[in-house]
Amino acid sequence: MAGRVIFIGAGPGAADLITLRGARLLAQADVVLFDALTDPALRDFAPRARWLDVGKRGFCDSTGQTAINALLVKHAREVGIVVRLKGGDPSVFGRLEEELQALAEAGIACEVVPGVTAAIAAAASSQRPLTRRGTGRSVSLATAMTRSGDLNATRTADTEVFYMAGKQLAALSRQLMAATWPADTPVSVVSRAGWPDAMHSDHTVGTLAGASVLHAGRPTIVTVGAGAHALNSPSPTEPSGASTGEPLKSRASPVGDARPTATSKPEP
Ligand code: SAH
Repeated sequence: MAGRVIFIGAGPGAADLITLRGARLLAQADVVLFDALTDPALRDFAPRARWLDVGKRGFCDSTGQTAINALLVKHAREVGIVVRLKGGDPSVFGRLEEELQALAEAGIACEVVPGVTAAIAAAASSQRPLTRRGTGRSVSLATAMTRSGDLNATRTADTEVFYMAGKQLAALSRQLMAATWPADTPVSVVSRAGWPDAMHSDHTVGTLAGASVLHAGRPTIVTVGAGAHALNSPSPTEPSGASTGEPLKSRASPVGDARPTATSKPEP
């Protein structure tokens, strides 16, 4: 009889950000298929399971996705509980649709356990609430990357959170302005949110390119609009005159340390 597959959101960083339910089900796994971004310390939750890294090169393109689907089906047929461990939340930019579809077609039962998605972890790390009373009534989780690898930024909500844009911040800045975001709109950038070495920096839509060097090579979340405002900075709905009109200073700090460790001037 076929086993079942449990998709578990590992959360964005340190192993203790997995949910209790996720940790308990992970402990029952016979086989775990995991991605690159999941914390190796999670292995302690299931030391006897067979751990298979499917986040490696070769599993990243569409051929790789087909191979992962096939592995899930194969292992579910062979053993009792297969855990598919995904970074953040499985339902957010996690290719969950393809994997659920493949398992449904094979008649294999599935369960999905949610996790803390990177947008939420970035908001927590930087202490920038994603919604704000009066000014931030909608949040969009977006990817700037299209299937063909082009960049496409939008303005669909009061707070727009971009995944997978870390390598193209200069282009994102231009695209955001083309999508009608004013150049002085605040942008909060957080890399490795939820990890002990998380970094946060403040920019504007016009100066976003300056974040590239700071966050290079790290998974990065870019939050634009209402949810990026520093708590003591003027909010967009304050009466005109309350705002100084100055762009926010770019500022970077390891999260959890209130003192900024580096400053850079906003680009002209
Ligand atoms: N399912 C995941 C997202 C996978 S897409 C989730 O729910 O979070 C991978 C993208 O997520 C990365 O390119 C980056 O933009 C973002 N990301 C993942 N982990 C992150 C982290 N710890 N800090 C900042 N961004 C992260």
